[in-house]
Amino acid sequence: MDPKPHGSASRAAAVPGADGEGLEPARVLVVDDEPSVVEVFREFLSGEGYALSVALSGEEAVRLIPEIKPDLVLTDINLPGLSGLEVMRFAKREDPEVAVIVVTGYASASTAIDALREGAYDYVTKPFDLDDVQQIVERGIANRRLKAINRRLVGELRQKNEILQHHEQELREKVRLATWQMTKLYEVGKEVSANLELAPRLQIICAKAAELVGAPVVVVYLRNPETERLSVGAAHGAELLGADEDEARFVEAEQSLGLASSDPRPVRRTLPGSAAALALPGLANVSVSTLMRLPLTTEAKMIGVLVLANKPDGFSADDEAFLALYASQAAIAVVNSQLYEHMKSLDRLKSEFVAVVSHEIRTPLTSVKGAIELLSDDRYFHNNEQQAKLLTIGHANAERLLVLINDILDFSKLESESMPMNIERQRLEPVVQQAAHHMRTMLEERHLQLELQLAPDLPDLMLDSIRLAQVLTNLLSNAAKFSPPHGRIEITAEPMDGLVRIGVRDHGEGIAPADLPKLFRKFSQVDSSATRKAGGTGLGLVICKGIVEKHSGKIWVESTPGLGSTFYFTLPVADRGLPRPAGRR
Ligand code: ADP
Repeated sequence: MDPKPHGSASRAAAVPGADGEGLEPARVLVVDDEPSVVEVFREFLSGEGYALSVALSGEEAVRLIPEIKPDLVLTDINLPGLSGLEVMRFAKREDPEVAVIVVTGYASASTAIDALREGAYDYVTKPFDLDDVQQIVERGIANRRLKAINRRLVGELRQKNEILQHHEQELREKVRLATWQMTKLYEVGKEVSANLELAPRLQIICAKAAELVGAPVVVVYLRNPETERLSVGAAHGAELLGADEDEARFVEAEQSLGLASSDPRPVRRTLPGSAAALALPGLANVSVSTLMRLPLTTEAKMIGVLVLANKPDGFSADDEAFLALYASQAAIAVVNSQLYEHMKSLDRLKSEFVAVVSHEIRTPLTSVKGAIELLSDDRYFHNNEQQAKLLTIGHANAERLLVLINDILDFSKLESESMPMNIERQRLEPVVQQAAHHMRTMLEERHLQLELQLAPDLPDLMLDSIRLAQVLTNLLSNAAKFSPPHGRIEITAEPMDGLVRIGVRDHGEGIAPADLPKLFRKFSQVDSSATRKAGGTGLGLVICKGIVEKHSGKIWVESTPGLGSTFYFTLPVADRGLPRPAGRR
């Protein structure tokens, strides 16, 4: 061993502490069986600021390593007992990041290479220059320090990554939940809107709320806008009690649960098992363990409350947030249904009123018309020219009034679905002949010619002959009204797509395309001015449409201004097996 004196300045070498924070002096273990060499290292390396330990044999080194946990081991390769290589292996097993520098004899390069292969950081060949040793040790310590820092950074990175993954997972979960909730709300919204009537709609609202949050009992209470009192609208998972039975229960539920309060804030409750059982008003045999109450509010008005009960684990804030969205959707649906029901009842009232009034007018009017007819009869009364003229005017007006009243009556019957229909197997031709017969006076007055173009061998049809004659008369009367004198009107009929299509064609003034959509709307006249040529209620075509639709047919018009119009409608063909009523052929 021939150590040379070193000349470099002494430097403190440090590594991060065991906790990865702060720096402490690097621990160096020197292993050599020659006390003089050990001494040189001790003297030289202590001055550099390392915490130095020494072992004079491999065995001693192996004993010391677990205790001192060196950052760097500087070991002679040739030791009498355990070799330097074995010391290195031991040290590496204890701490894979430890830097090991082996000191080899001049002629043993191959041993040094073996040591490097097995993980030594570097080697020093004897005789060595202390400066070189110093540099190698310094690099070894630096390397060890970098490894420690690297380990710490990788650890931190892993930790941060885990946190990030956790956040991502949470975010994904939130997005998944929100998407699920939106999809659910959309689907449920569609189901709720499918039925406009109030009772089934309330039932669906309850059932779907139960499904959305897994609540076994759901009730909708509706507020009566006049009395401000709540009553059960519908319930899911519980039986309804008869009405008026439970005012006391409402009072109790209001006091204990805030159920009937007009406070629009949601309420969530879990009642302790020991609490006296609370019943939900209006329901038979439901005692509450957990409860959520949500207001049904539209346009800042509380129209009722949605109450969910008895979810086993209670209702969460998430349930509340989700169901609050649902409740606002449900409130709109309920109000729409209430409006619809209200409109339907008004409509019914109107139709009933119109039917009663028209009926009441028709009876005296018929007798007025009869009286005028009697007065005009030459056999009983001798009227002068003036009187006869007045009677004719009176008769024409009574007739016109009767037509109007009959139209209004028919229309209200169609609207209230109370027009009696007697649809049976019939031939079309007699019905057409009958309508033509009705119209003959009007046609003659205007010198109009009527042509029938019925396809030969038309199949029998399913029709109500009286109502169908009414449709044809109406179309013929319109065609006559809008035809020039001496004009021509045609009635056509031909099979088409399994039906029979009937047409009434005139060659009159026609209808402007913009007016076509108005024709089949109630009380709609293309020329609604007070000076219009042709009188009428504007109900004729609406009644025709109603009657044709009662026959499962369709009605439409094709028209060219200046050239004329054709009104078409279809009627179903009779089943071959069906008998025709006797005596109609
Ligand atoms: P109204 O009983 O008042 O005649 P309709 O429902 O029968 O009512 O007809 C509505 C309107 O359609 C008529 O006022 C007229 O403007 C138009 N219309 C109906 N038929 C014809 C036609 N053949 N040619 C031209 N316009 C017609």
